[in-house]
Amino acid sequence: MSEVKTPIVTGGCQCGKVRYALYAAPQNAHVCHCRMCQRATGGVFAALAGAPKSEFAWTEGEPAFFASSNLAKRAYCRDCGTPLSFSYDLPEARFYVTIGSMDDPEAAPIVKQYGVESRISWVKFCEDVPAEKTGEDPKAAEFFKTMQSNQG
Ligand SMILES: [Zn+2]
Ligand SMILES: [Zn+2]
Repeated sequence: MSEVKTPIVTGGCQCGKVRYALYAAPQNAHVCHCRMCQRATGGVFAALAGAPKSEFAWTEGEPAFFASSNLAKRAYCRDCGTPLSFSYDLPEARFYVTIGSMDDPEAAPIVKQYGVESRISWVKFCEDVPAEKTGEDPKAAEFFKTMQSNQG
């Protein structure tokens, strides 16, 4: 008997060729102001919401991936360029999708801000949301020690 999962969240790129689904409620929705996320999205921060990797699937098309560092990959549509995901290469890491690519971005209100050391001075919003600098958490700092950026 095969289990049929019901998507909780769906989304996709602007041209519509790549579509995805989360089969769990979005977790740890956040913005990241770090330079890598700024560069990766072309925006002034990344807005991401996650699910366990087992609760995520591409449902139409296949995205391209860029390994922005030796620790993580980011998916984008090879036809229209929409940034679609971020995930660390650890089995237990969540698979994050860009909140702006979700069909209903209201489904993932943010609970955290990361990378605030690089927050652009005029970006003033959600200041009531808990903020953290990159590597502020000791466990994360240990992980980031091995990181080598592939961004130019
Ligand atoms: Zn596309
Ligand atoms: Zn970031």
